[in-house]
Amino acid sequence: MGLLYLGTPLTWDDAKKYADHVRFHGVTQFLNTWDRLKDRQGDELLWGDEIEYMVVSFDQTNKNAKLSLRQTEILAKLNSIVDNICADCPAEVSVPTYHPEYGRYMLESTPGSPYTGSIPDLLAVEGNMRYRRSLARQHLKPNEVPITFTSFPRLGVRGQFTEPYYDPSDAVSSHSLFLPEEITNPHARFPTLTANIRLRRGSKVAINLPLFIDSQTPRPFIDPTIPWDRNIYPEDSEAKNGAALPDHIYLDAMGFGMGCCCLQLTFQACNVSDARRMYDGLIPVGPILLALTAASPVWRGFLADVDCRWNVIAGSVDDRTKEERGLNPLKNDRFRIPKSRYDSVDLYISNDWINRPEYNDNYLPYDESIYDRLRKHGLDDLLSKHISHLFIRDPLVVFSETIDQDDSTSTDHFENIQSTNWQTLRFKPPPPNSPIGWRVEFRSMEVQMTDFENAAFAVFVVLLSRAILSFNLNFYIPISKVDENMGRAQSRDAARSAKFYFRKDVYAVRRSGASSSASSSGCSSPTSDAPRKKEKKMRNCFPPLPLPENGVLYTRPVEDEYEEMTMNEIINGKGDYFPGLLRLVYDYLDTLDVDQEAFATIEKYLDLIRRRADGSLQTPATWIRNFVRSHPDYKHDSVVSQEINYDLMVAVDEIERGVRREPDLLPKDYTGGDQDKGDIGL
Ligand code: ADP
Ligand code: MG
Ligand code: MG
Ligand code: MG
Ligand code: MG
Ligand code: MG
Repeated sequence: MGLLYLGTPLTWDDAKKYADHVRFHGVTQFLNTWDRLKDRQGDELLWGDEIEYMVVSFDQTNKNAKLSLRQTEILAKLNSIVDNICADCPAEVSVPTYHPEYGRYMLESTPGSPYTGSIPDLLAVEGNMRYRRSLARQHLKPNEVPITFTSFPRLGVRGQFTEPYYDPSDAVSSHSLFLPEEITNPHARFPTLTANIRLRRGSKVAINLPLFIDSQTPRPFIDPTIPWDRNIYPEDSEAKNGAALPDHIYLDAMGFGMGCCCLQLTFQACNVSDARRMYDGLIPVGPILLALTAASPVWRGFLADVDCRWNVIAGSVDDRTKEERGLNPLKNDRFRIPKSRYDSVDLYISNDWINRPEYNDNYLPYDESIYDRLRKHGLDDLLSKHISHLFIRDPLVVFSETIDQDDSTSTDHFENIQSTNWQTLRFKPPPPNSPIGWRVEFRSMEVQMTDFENAAFAVFVVLLSRAILSFNLNFYIPISKVDENMGRAQSRDAARSAKFYFRKDVYAVRRSGASSSASSSGCSSPTSDAPRKKEKKMRNCFPPLPLPENGVLYTRPVEDEYEEMTMNEIINGKGDYFPGLLRLVYDYLDTLDVDQEAFATIEKYLDLIRRRADGSLQTPATWIRNFVRSHPDYKHDSVVSQEINYDLMVAVDEIERGVRREPDLLPKDYTGGDQDKGDIGL
């Protein structure tokens, strides 16, 4: 989530009066940043991960695993611990940072300072993640564990799923039938976001996930656990009036989505144009890594027929009105908006020649007056469209104390809109008064149950981002096809059974000599055959993308540039024309001066990616689904009972610690997290 401001939030009726004000000054603030920093050059590769945890409280007597709502206390404790560690640690030690998140049972951690492009830093990622987890764990109650689990299986069931218990009848912000007010971080920003999304939309959010139909699932499935006839809030009748669909799992509150955990990565680019190139390069990778990290097949106590969180979060913050959603003709609102504020990126933004205009084939509503203003200021078409597209949204949380800002020093109004556009990639301008440069955040991945896996995906993506820049890779396909991939990525078992659109010829400029699938020549510049000295560090600054030697930019119609591939083909290669993402990463590694021991560690990570893609290891979602379906308490009726959930949470903790071996999920030599920490005292 974005930064937390202290202040008095306005109710929706008051906040909306300031929408144009916030947008106008937000754009001014962006332009001030642009004027100061558009020519900023030479930033090194700094990068970092964000990992989200849910704190689970184990009750052995009643066999219940619940969400512990002690976020405030836990964070206060962790931050004081961290301050103390900081006082006597050497400067180069990176002391973790813990942040609040939407759920009052959630924590987020980041490395205290970003990693650099050095190989030792690459190797430190997993240890850093484990340290952050174990520090958090040490300062919880003995029966509490911070688990990295994407969606809590019994969030919103009838009965007790939080510690302590609260009744959903008190959900004054969300009016949810299922989630109590206390599920939400009490900081004013979060309940206000929740309430204002509902008020702007004109109804509760409504998510219907297809139910996984098992042999004993009653058909049609009409969810007996929904309090159909509750009559506390005006929206209570929505469920029975069509919002809750048969054969689906119905979710009605922001907490179901923003209460999920994910794994995000942020990379600093050399300059703004490299940031734009990296942003575009990673767009088609978003759905691929969503499918490969899929980890959320259970929702509100039921098995779903999807494996990922994405559409749940998209729906959970969908503040569009009926007019914006295209259900009513436009009268009071300005735009038809195809997507929620949380969804996949709509626009490629690089000005490189490889970004053919045909790729931006999504309908793109944007604020024309903002677009004109940006263009008059000298911004190019694509970046102007990007910003004026983000700025079709209203600010949802406005604090009365910070309405008037100094636009030369503040970016609060810009960030207000920017940080409530939650997309697969985020293009992050440098913050004011900081040494930080232009950055790109990769946001599609689900969090994995172990830090070995989280580190593997982090290392894979950072290496892939280097390969994109240093080999002049071209991953462009029409952005509408990326959206189609987002849908496919979430379907059950997508990593093994779905096909995805992917580009066939991934070199923007033909590599001379070797065929594309052949192993690398060891050159970081693929157009030259001259051997290069291997680099000690992952570089960040590269020459601009060269034009093709023959001067012909495009040789084929767009439709011939891509095809459908399986996950195995996308990662591990196809035929003699598509090397696979892993080959590109290995080729890039080949340009680095990596010693054998370091290489062996990196290879373990890359092997996880390879095996997920070839199906010899399962995604967490598949493993979780199988765990549920083979549990003695499972009645093949799609229901994930309290006891199944308890055993699942115990298993997840044991897997992480290396106590329970799961060779279908993790390589045989996975030894577990912190060997010293005991079991949870059960
Ligand atoms: P947000 O929640 O807004 O996405 P966070 O502050 O939680 O952002 O996380 C930002 C991530 O970026 C952290 O992993 C941090 O280590 C990393 N980071 C910090 N400074 C830089 C930088 N200059 N370049 C790239 N990444 C950075
Ligand atoms: Mg977060
Ligand atoms: Mg944040
Ligand atoms: Mg964060
Ligand atoms: Mg403990
Ligand atoms: Mg983030």
